[in-house]
Amino acid sequence: MQTHQYDVVIVGAGGAGMRAALESSTRARTAVLTKLYPTRSHTGAAQGGMCAALANVEEDNWEWHTFDTVKGGDYLVDQDAAEVMAKEAIDAVIDLERMGLPFNRTPEGRIDQRRFGGHTRNHGEAAVRRSCYAADRTGHMILQTLYQQCVKQDVAFFNEFYVLDVLLTHDLTSGEVADGEQVQVSGVVAYELATGEIHVFRAKSVVFATGGAGKIYKTTSNAHTLTGDGMALALRRGIPLEDMEFFQFHPTGLAGLGILLSEAARGEGGILRNSDGERFMERYAPTIKDLAPRDMVARAMANEVREGRGCGPDKDYVLLDLTHLEPAHIDAKLPDITEFARTYLGVEPYTEPVPVYPTAHYAMGGIPTTIDAEVLRNNTDVVGGLFAAGEVACVSVHGANRLGTNSLLDINVFGKRAGIAAARYATEAPWVDLPEDPAGPVVGEIERLRDQAAGERVADVRRELQETMDANAQVFRTADSLTQAMDDVTSLKKRFAAVSVQDKGRRFNTDLLEAVELGFLVDLAEVVVAGALAREESRGGHFREDFPTRDDEKFLHHTMAYQRPAATGGTEIVLDHKPVTMTRYQPMERKY
Ligand SMILES: Cc1cc2nc3c(=O)[nH]c(=O)nc-3n(C[C@H](O)[C@H](O)[C@H](O)COP(=O)(O)OP(=O)(O)OC[C@H]3O[C@@H](n4cnc5c(N)ncnc54)[C@H](O)[C@@H]3O)c2cc1C
Repeated sequence: MQTHQYDVVIVGAGGAGMRAALESSTRARTAVLTKLYPTRSHTGAAQGGMCAALANVEEDNWEWHTFDTVKGGDYLVDQDAAEVMAKEAIDAVIDLERMGLPFNRTPEGRIDQRRFGGHTRNHGEAAVRRSCYAADRTGHMILQTLYQQCVKQDVAFFNEFYVLDVLLTHDLTSGEVADGEQVQVSGVVAYELATGEIHVFRAKSVVFATGGAGKIYKTTSNAHTLTGDGMALALRRGIPLEDMEFFQFHPTGLAGLGILLSEAARGEGGILRNSDGERFMERYAPTIKDLAPRDMVARAMANEVREGRGCGPDKDYVLLDLTHLEPAHIDAKLPDITEFARTYLGVEPYTEPVPVYPTAHYAMGGIPTTIDAEVLRNNTDVVGGLFAAGEVACVSVHGANRLGTNSLLDINVFGKRAGIAAARYATEAPWVDLPEDPAGPVVGEIERLRDQAAGERVADVRRELQETMDANAQVFRTADSLTQAMDDVTSLKKRFAAVSVQDKGRRFNTDLLEAVELGFLVDLAEVVVAGALAREESRGGHFREDFPTRDDEKFLHHTMAYQRPAATGGTEIVLDHKPVTMTRYQPMERKY
């Protein structure tokens, strides 16, 4: 075992982690630990854009952006946080431009902007051009730009280091630490892929920037690595997760595959059609049609298919029509995603519409934080020195449904805030002691998995988990479907305890790490389903057919889910609530 000491340890080298590192590394001794080589992080797969009310091409302002974010999130957004994000968006884009990001330009040479779902002028009058972009490779450009800056600033990276535990001064798992008592972070434990060696990183501040958890579903736009590690590690240490029942299903995954075709396709004029060739979104959202928020479009698509107006031999998808756009325009603005359609479906988007169906895309929920990215351990107390930013966190700026292009924005705004706050905390706070035998639990779990004689196969448990989540906790949910999902997850949790890995070696044992990641997925699926069962209303991405309307009287609150010891052994999910922060906007009916 090796021990290291840094003022600040950042876990994750996606957009949020690297944006934090740029701030923190100039102020405090900083290390970035990442399970992937930095430029392989999922931020690099983001296509469509990053929004800010620059008003470069049309009248716009940050207040309209705040309103759209709150309404898009079906009023579950904390409005103070949304306001911070919309205001700081403008500097976030300019920061990236100064770092050298090659944004697309207007003929006058300003940063160009395009339309995206739910972003409107003057509180819903019409769609507005708010998203800044670099063709359909915006995330790739952001990730490369941030990485270049990190290299220039000599940030210390520990690549292919898997963080498997977070060390705290108190044991929060039983829920017995009193409110108000000061709890602090003291470091993390990591597993080095190349050697199988365990490393303890002592730190005054730890920033979680580990991204999303899309792999709890089978049909997903998310990379294989998005297994919700940071969320699960926090949960297992007694920290709550907020609003996990809200998962975003992106309307336009390639049918049958889930690979994403950016909403930019509709922003540039693409139209969704059913088997009658009808532009069906005119019926569901008469004002902004195909550019309604994702939850509404995904539900509309699933509904067309249910009512028999789906396309293809099994009538199980709809079509995204780009054939009326000029090929030159498609090549300039949507080169990558049209290539995906050719490569994966053999469809030529110039002349044929592309088969699409909703795909699991984004976790609105995550580790609860303040607007300075400080992690909350209940509704009010922060864990000293522990921060979270990006998709792993729930600030909450996305509420029940995130608007497209608000995540690349979120990672830049709150990544920056997390880096500044973590460095400040590390300069002011004293060192705290590591717990005795800090790596003990991780070593124990790794040895258990490695030494377990032939048992359950990781691939089988994972497939069954993803299948039940797709079948029972997707766009449409009912008490029956969710109860089925909960029964399945409960039995898979037991079967996970018996998984064994074939590779017993130490070097590059990805087999072992996939087993560890599966454990995270099982724990998180349980939280998603528990929250979804309890929320007997429909709001944003969470649609209950048995409770089809929003119920502000009973459910206008955040869900706070805790993993606690169960009386019968093992653990269970205990739910609590947190009020939503309202500033300017009172909930109203969500029409587009
Ligand atoms: C296909 C696709 C397209 C998208 N398009 C857009 C878009 O156009 N606009 C938009 O706003 N949003 C978009 N999104 C969403 C957005 O890209 C993501 O939400 C955002 O990039 C997440 O950034 P992040 O920094 O939080 O996490 P990530 O970029 O996912 O990075 C996570 C990091 O954490 C590290 N990590 C994870 N677990 C561990 C561990 N246990 N130990 C050590 N390191 C760990 C990984 O190595 C990685 O470096 C898209 C998402 C997808 C999947």
